[in-house]
Parts: sequence; structure tokens; C-alpha cells
Amino acid sequence: MAGSGAPRVIAIDGPAGSGKSTVARAVADRLGLHYLDTGAMYRGVAYAVLRAGIDPTDAGPVADVARNVTLAVTRSHCMVDGEDASTAIRGPEVTGAVSAVAANPEVRLEMVARQRAWVLERGGGVMEGRDIGSVVFPDAELKVYLTASPEVRARRRAAEDPGVNVDSVAADIRRRDEADSSRDASPLVAADGARVMDTSELTVDGAVDAIVEMFR
Ligand code: C5P
Repeated sequence: MAGSGAPRVIAIDGPAGSGKSTVARAVADRLGLHYLDTGAMYRGVAYAVLRAGIDPTDAGPVADVARNVTLAVTRSHCMVDGEDASTAIRGPEVTGAVSAVAANPEVRLEMVARQRAWVLERGGGVMEGRDIGSVVFPDAELKVYLTASPEVRARRRAAEDPGVNVDSVAADIRRRDEADSSRDASPLVAADGARVMDTSELTVDGAVDAIVEMFR
């Protein structure tokens, strides 16, 4: 409950296809906690940037969009300025633009402020992303860094969308890994104190059981 002590946060970070979203949602369900997909927020900003016809690498205008956009990210939906962008934010245009938008330090400042406010309003929750344990909530009660082999990650992403080909998904994952890990602003890293878990050989239930056990 908001206001009743320090917020309880479970931070789940890791690269694309590591199982973050599926595992983080299931952990939130098991523990009866709120859930926030911070990647959907960066995707929502990228969507608003493209919609406005702005180049995703044009730092100033992109930062202005991030500060002014109204984002409402729920478990199943992402509303961008009142428009339902839940499907569009998963499409190739947004996926192609999001890493450039997320590398913008001013975009990150704005999103991190909104993510912290989200936690304070709810008194805690399960947050998934790339920098939750390292930047957004370094004092999170539990920090987990999920990984999986590149082959497993590409297969998982391709299975979510039967229309796509595994090789092109693998290439997209490699490109985003490289961009997210090498950027100056909050690069993707396992945070200090994070429990690193390789999910390549784990079922969803196996990963969820392990995280719930660590939290208790
Ligand atoms: O989690 P998802 O793959 O949907 O995230 C999309 C992109 O958003 C990532 O590739 C990354 O560039 C960015 N992101 C981030 N920090 C977060 C969450 C996502 O930079 N906390």
C-alpha cells in the first residue's frame, strides 16, 4: 500500500528474448504485485517520435516528445496520447527505432522519473527492463538478471510471431544487444547484487519458482 514503508520492488532485467516479460508477469501474479513493462514505455516514445515524423536520432526533438507524451502502460495495453498503440509498438518500425530513442539520456531521465513515480504510487511492484536494478531502483529488494543463449532467445521471439523468420529475428536481437550494451547512458548490465539466471534450459515455471523462492 502506498505510504506504508519503503516500496518493495523486484527488478527483472535482461536482453531481448531472455524470458523477462513472461517470467516477470508470472512472478507478479504469483505474489499479487503490480507489474510494469518499462520496455513498452520506451517503445511508446519511439512510436510517438515516428508518428510525429521525427528522426529517432535527433536528440532535442526526441527528448521533447518524451517529456510531453502521455503514456498509459498497463499489463495488456500501451496507450500513446490516448491512442491504442499496443500492436504498433511491437511492429518492425518501432522495434527498429527504439534503441536509438532509448539511448537518448534525456529520454531516459524522463522515463526513469515516471517509473519511480509509478512505484511510489503503488508501494512497489515487479518491474522489468534493462536498467531497473542498476539505475531505476538500485535498492530493489530483489534484483534478477535473466539471460539465455542467443539461439534460444531468437527461437522464443520467433515463436511469438509465426510470420517472422528466425534468422531475421536473430539479426535484430544481435543489433539491439549491441546498441543497448554499448550505449553511454545506462547500458544493459547485470546490476551489482543481481542474481544472474540463465533461462536457456529452464521452463517458465522453473524460473518463476526460483524467483519467488528468492523473494520469500
Ligand atoms: O523490453 P523490450 O525489448 O520491449 O525493450 C525495447 C527496447 O527499449 C530495448 O531494446 C531497449 O533499447 C529499451 N529499454 C531500455 N531500458 C529499459 C527497457 C527497455 O533502454 N528499462
